[in-house]
Amino acid sequence: MTHIAALLTLVLLISAAPARADWMERTEAIMGTRCYVELWADDPLKGNDAIDAVMAELRRIDNLMSHYKPESQLSQINQYGNERPVQVDKELFDLIKLSTHYSQITEGAFDITYASVGYLYDYPRHIHPTENQIRQALPAVNWRNMLLDEEHHTVRFEHPGMRIDLGGIGKGYAVDRGIEILKARGTTRALVTAGGDSRIIGDRMGRPWLVAIRHPDNPNKVVTRIPLADSAVSTSGDYERYFDEGGVRYHHIIDPHTGHSASKVRSATILAPTATQTDGMSKTAFVLGPEKALEIINRMPEYDAVFVLPDGRVLYSKGLRPAASRPPGAGAAPAPTAANSAQP
Ligand code: ADP
Ligand code: MG
Repeated sequence: MTHIAALLTLVLLISAAPARADWMERTEAIMGTRCYVELWADDPLKGNDAIDAVMAELRRIDNLMSHYKPESQLSQINQYGNERPVQVDKELFDLIKLSTHYSQITEGAFDITYASVGYLYDYPRHIHPTENQIRQALPAVNWRNMLLDEEHHTVRFEHPGMRIDLGGIGKGYAVDRGIEILKARGTTRALVTAGGDSRIIGDRMGRPWLVAIRHPDNPNKVVTRIPLADSAVSTSGDYERYFDEGGVRYHHIIDPHTGHSASKVRSATILAPTATQTDGMSKTAFVLGPEKALEIINRMPEYDAVFVLPDGRVLYSKGLRPAASRPPGAGAAPAPTAANSAQP
C-alpha cells in the first residue's frame, strides 16, 4: 500500500513539475533534401507537436509540387499540359503565377519552364544534353507560353515539349508555410530550413542568428557569416548538384536563355523577408551575375545579396556592407557600387 502511495506521489510530482523551456531541433529528409527545424519551446511536448506539424506541412507541399512524384499535381501539368488545360489547387496555381511574376521582373532569368531543357541533365549519372539537343529544346523554355486561367486555376502549355519544375521556389515556399504554422502556435524564436532555403523568427535570446555562407570548394570552410533576425535567406551554389567534365561544371542552375549551367558566380545568397522571395531571387542572382542582379535588387529595398565570385572575391549589396571594412576614423563610407563593394 505504502509503495502504491509513494508511486502515486511520484507520478503526481512529475506531472506537476513545470515543463522546462529549451531549444529543440529535428532534421528530416523531405523534398529530396535536408529539412531542419529549431525552436524555443516553453513546453517540450508542444514544441515537439509544432515540429511535427512543420514536417507534415513540408511533406504535404512536396506531394503537391514534386516533379519526382508522378501523381503530384505538378506532374499532371507536365503530362497533360500540352493537350489540355490542367486544373490544379489554388495554392499550386498561385505559386506558378508568382513564378511568372519573378520571370517578368528578372527578364526571364528565373523561369520554371527552364525544365524543358533542364530535364535533359542528369547530374548523378553525369549526363548533359548536346548542343543540338539544347537547340531543339530551347524554344520550349519561355514562361510566356504558359497559359494561366485565373478563374478555373488551369495551366496549359502553348508550345510543344514544355515542362515546368518548381525546384527553384518550392522549398522557399514550404519554409514560409512552416514558419506560418509556428507563428500561429505562438512560437517566437525559430529557424526552418529546407535545403538552401531558411527563415528565422525572432533572434537567439537577444543575439542574431549567424548564417554561414560556405566556401564553394570546401564545405567546412566559411566565407562569411551574416547576422540575421526575423528574415529569410537562400543560397544557390554550383556545388550542390553537379559534375565536372572537360573543365566545365555542369550544375543545376540553368540560364533559361542558353540552356547551359550559369557560370557568372559560384554562389548567390539572397536576404529578404520571406523564403519564397529569397529562393526565387537566388536563382535570378546566380543566372544574371552580380552587376545585373544588383541593379534589380537595389531597386527593391527589402532585398540584400552576397555573391561569391569565380575568383574567390565576395561581393555584398549596399545594405550588407560590413562596417568593419571601413578604416577606423574614416567616417561614413562612400556608397558602394557593385564593382567596389568587394571584401577581402
Ligand atoms: P535548392 O534546391 O537546394 O534549394 P536552389 O534554391 O539553388 O537549390 O534551387 C536549384 C533548383 O532551381 C534547381 O534544382 C532547379 O530545380 C531550379 N532551377 C534551376 N535553374 C532555374 C531557373 N533559371 N529558373 C527557375 N528555377 C530554376
Ligand atoms: Mg532553394
